[in-house]
Amino acid sequence: MRNDLLGSFAAVVGEKNVLAGEHDAAPYLTDWRRQFSGPAVCVVRPGATAEVSAVVRLCAQAGVAIVPQGGNTGLVGGSVPTGARPEIVLSLSRMNRIRALDALNNTLTAEAGCVLADLQRAADAAGRLFALSLAAEGSCQIGGNLSTNAGGVNVLRYGNARDQVLGMEAVLPDGRIWDGLRGLRKDNTGYDLKQLFIGAEGTLGIITAAVLKLHPKPTASATAWIEVENPQRAVEMLSHLRGACGDRLTAFELLSRTCVDAVLKHRPQVRDPLPGSAWAVLVQLGDSGPDEALHALLERALEESAAPDAVLAKNEADAQALWAIRETVPEAQFGNVKHDISVPVSKIPEFIARTESALRAEALRLPAGFPIYCFGHVGDGNLHYNVGDAALISRREEVSRVVYEVVDAFGGSISAEHGLGQLKRAEIGKHKPALELELMRAVKRALDPQGIMNPGKVV
Ligand SMILES: Cc1cc2nc3c(=O)[nH]c(=O)nc-3n(C[C@H](O)[C@H](O)[C@H](O)COP(=O)(O)OP(=O)(O)OC[C@H]3O[C@@H](n4cnc5c(N)ncnc54)[C@H](O)[C@@H]3O)c2cc1C
Repeated sequence: MRNDLLGSFAAVVGEKNVLAGEHDAAPYLTDWRRQFSGPAVCVVRPGATAEVSAVVRLCAQAGVAIVPQGGNTGLVGGSVPTGARPEIVLSLSRMNRIRALDALNNTLTAEAGCVLADLQRAADAAGRLFALSLAAEGSCQIGGNLSTNAGGVNVLRYGNARDQVLGMEAVLPDGRIWDGLRGLRKDNTGYDLKQLFIGAEGTLGIITAAVLKLHPKPTASATAWIEVENPQRAVEMLSHLRGACGDRLTAFELLSRTCVDAVLKHRPQVRDPLPGSAWAVLVQLGDSGPDEALHALLERALEESAAPDAVLAKNEADAQALWAIRETVPEAQFGNVKHDISVPVSKIPEFIARTESALRAEALRLPAGFPIYCFGHVGDGNLHYNVGDAALISRREEVSRVVYEVVDAFGGSISAEHGLGQLKRAEIGKHKPALELELMRAVKRALDPQGIMNPGKVV
C-alpha cells in the first residue's frame, strides 16, 4: 500500500517532490525547538493548489493523515507528525508565488509558502507596508503565520495575523478547493469562513493562498531602549506613550535583566545599551513625515514619563542593533520551562510579582536562585515567561501549574500567540470552558469528519 501511495503522490507532484528516504525527510520531522519528532510515510511538496487537492484526495481515500508544514518554526509541535498513525508531512514551501499586488486596493495575494520576509520586501518595493513582523520572519511562511494566527512585534498598532487577511483559498479535508480569495473590506454575507482556518493550526484544512492587507509605508521611525525601574512603571509608560504618540506607537517590548544578560552571554559582541538597568523596554514609533519630528515626539514623551535613562537610535543601524537584542532572546535561553501567556495589560505587573513569589515559595522546593526570563509584547498583554534552566525541565508540569494558576486568576490565556499544537493540547482542557471546547470539536467534526487533518493537535 505504501509504495502504491508514494507512486500516486509522485504522479501528482513529481518524484523529486516525494521525500521518503530517512535523510531527505529528516528536516521536516523535528520541530524548531527539537522537542517533538515523529515518523512520516513521506514528505510531499506540491507546487500548486490543484496538486494539494489531489494529494489530499489520495490521503482521504487511503485514510492517511496530513500534517501541513510551512517554515517549521512553530513552537508547540504543531508542524511535525505525532507518530500515532500513518501521516504525511505536506510541505507548502514550493507554493511561494506572489499572485498579485494591487497597490490601489492595498492588497497582496500570496501563496501559503511565501516566506514572511519576502512578502514584507514585496510590499516595501510597492511603497506599502505588510505589517506582520516576528523574529522568525526569514523562515516562517504566511500559511504557517495564518494557521497559528501569529502575533509578533507590530500587534499593538496593526493587530495579529488574523487582522491582516481579507480573503483565502484553502483545500478542505476531502480535497475540495474553497476559493475565497476576495479583496473586500466589507462583506457581510454570512459566516466569515476564513477566520475558521486562521489559528486552526492545520486541523481544519490547508491554506493555499490569501489576500493580505497592505498599509501605508511609514517614512519615519524612532526607536529607543529605555530603562524602567519595574514592570509597573513599564505599563504606566506604555499608557503615557499611547496617549502622547497615538497610533504612531507600533511596538512596546519588555525585557528583564536576565534576558539581556542571556543575550550578552550568547553573543559576546553585543553591547548592553544600558548596563545595570533592572528592566528595559524597547519602543518603536512609525509615521509619515520626517524622522526628526518623530524623534522629538519620542524624546518629549520620555521626559514627561520620567524615564530614568534611555538610548535613542540615531539611525537605522542603531535601531537594528537594539532590535537584534530583543530578537536574540528566544535563542539565548533555550532549555528551560517556557510559557507564552497573556493577561490584561493592567495586570502584567501583578502577574509578574505573584508568579515569581509563587514559584519561589519554599513549599514548592524548586532549586534556589533559578533564573526567570520574562520578556515580550507587553503592549499586547503578552509575556514569554520562561523559568529556570535544563535542570528544571523534569519539573515542567509543577512549574507550569503554578504559572497557569496565576494566569487563570487574571482571566488570561495559556497561549497568547504560539497556539496549542501538541504541547498544550491536553492542558487547554483545564483552562477553556467546556462549552468552548465542545463547539471547537463540533467545528472539527463538521469540516474533517474523517479526522485526517493534523491529528493529535489542538482538539
Ligand atoms: C525565533 C522565533 C521567534 C518567534 N517569534 C514569534 C512571535 O513573536 N510571535 C508569534 O506569534 N510566533 C513567533 N514564533 C513562532 C512561529 O514563528 C510562528 O508560529 C509562525 O507563525 C509559524 O510559521 P511557520 O511557517 O514556521 O509554520 P509551521 O511551524 O510550519 O506550522 C505551524 C502550524 O501551522 C500549520 N500550518 C503551516 N502551514 C499551514 C498551511 N498552509 N495550512 C494549514 N496549516 C498550516 C502546521 O501544521 C502547524 O500546526 C517564533 C518562532 C521562532 C523560532
